[in-house]
Amino acid sequence: SVRDDAAPSAARRSDRKHVLHSWSAHGTFEPIVIAGSEGAYFWDEDGRRWLDFSSQLVNVNVGHQHPKLIAAIRLQAEKLCTVAPYHANEATSEAARLIAELAPGDLNRVFFTNGGAEAVENAIRMARLHTGRHKVLTAYRSYHGATAGALAASGDPRRWPSEPGAPGIARFWGPYPYRSAFHADSAQEECERALAHLADTVMAEGAHAIAAVLLETVVGGNGILVPPDGYLQGVRALCDAHGILMIADEVMTGFGRCGEWFAVDRWNVVPDLITFAKGVNSGYVPLGGVIVSDAVAASFATRAYPGGLTYSGHPLACAAAVACIGIYKEENLIVRARRLGEEVIAPALRAMQARHPSIGDVRGLGAFWAIELVRDRATREPLVPFNASGPADAPMAEFAAACKQRGLWPFVVSNRLHIVPPLIIDEQALRDGLSIVDEALQVADRHCAG
Ligand code: PLP
Repeated sequence: SVRDDAAPSAARRSDRKHVLHSWSAHGTFEPIVIAGSEGAYFWDEDGRRWLDFSSQLVNVNVGHQHPKLIAAIRLQAEKLCTVAPYHANEATSEAARLIAELAPGDLNRVFFTNGGAEAVENAIRMARLHTGRHKVLTAYRSYHGATAGALAASGDPRRWPSEPGAPGIARFWGPYPYRSAFHADSAQEECERALAHLADTVMAEGAHAIAAVLLETVVGGNGILVPPDGYLQGVRALCDAHGILMIADEVMTGFGRCGEWFAVDRWNVVPDLITFAKGVNSGYVPLGGVIVSDAVAASFATRAYPGGLTYSGHPLACAAAVACIGIYKEENLIVRARRLGEEVIAPALRAMQARHPSIGDVRGLGAFWAIELVRDRATREPLVPFNASGPADAPMAEFAAACKQRGLWPFVVSNRLHIVPPLIIDEQALRDGLSIVDEALQVADRHCAG
């Protein structure tokens, strides 16, 4: 029932006239108007339906319109919609208790925010106040949010228009075996050399001045870069040797995405601070936060923590977190994510790699995968250049359009497709979606050498 010729709806007219969308030029951007969603699907007002391989922005982990999550929000709305963050209430207390229980080691206290960027801002502030040091080391291939400090801490090009960023940020290269900055030939070599490079960076910046190393446990938006075994343990040891705090940004990776409650669990690493958002309540109500170790929390036992937000610990958002964590447990979604990755996604992508010359690399874990597209497997020349836009980005835009035409909503970044469906996705739907990717890749293959 596609109405291509229909007059624009009121929603579309008002959007075009009055909404300024994120990261977009309003004069050229044409959003689709979403009318509804359920489970792993969403649809527009013209009745076009897509299988959501993006989980929107990798946050709708329990899928769209989960009845239990809706019921919990409704119940909380009837009970207590909002209170100032200096009061205690049942929903916030219970969310904090559950999150602390799930977090590794002695990370026992939660500072709530409205989303990931604010979580990063506050984690940096805590690290600076706790250590009395100023510098923060972050990776070039990283994204930490779009508020001033979080964007300055990000390595990816989204920071460029807002530069000069904040003082005190120094950057390093993290491990990325497919495009090694260290000319490594094996995962072990990549691990050793990336750690040596980080140690050199610490030395050259001055360990005495470094408050924290901030890194995504598995780099998300910048490529689903799974660190080689030993890397995060090595970062932890380096931080310990120099009194530097380790901040794991788990905004995208936490709450099941990587087949663990937190991705650090896979390597048994306990950071000093964990930032979270997205999956904590699957985005039904905005929520993020910082999980704080006992040692860092002790810094604010008798001295007031100098930071706050009107909506810190918002009851509706926290009630949604309590319900969402309940759903992860009841539906065994953490283990399910791991199983879908190992048994369905990985084998399907590897089989596609054998058929499609455009697939240079396949990587991921849990329900967090990427295929990296190239023009030439031998040279690894990316299908589109770094930070391409407009005509230079056309091959990826064509590929994304081919997915959408076939009823799949893809998550395309740079020269990569990220495969990040809701953790509840039906196994057959997942296989069908992967078949669509397989078909759409013919469009990418046409740009390959030979
Ligand atoms: N940190 C990471 C690792 C992210 O992936 C993101 C968003 O994608 C953020 C922080 C920022 O979160 P938010 O957009 O909720 O501010």
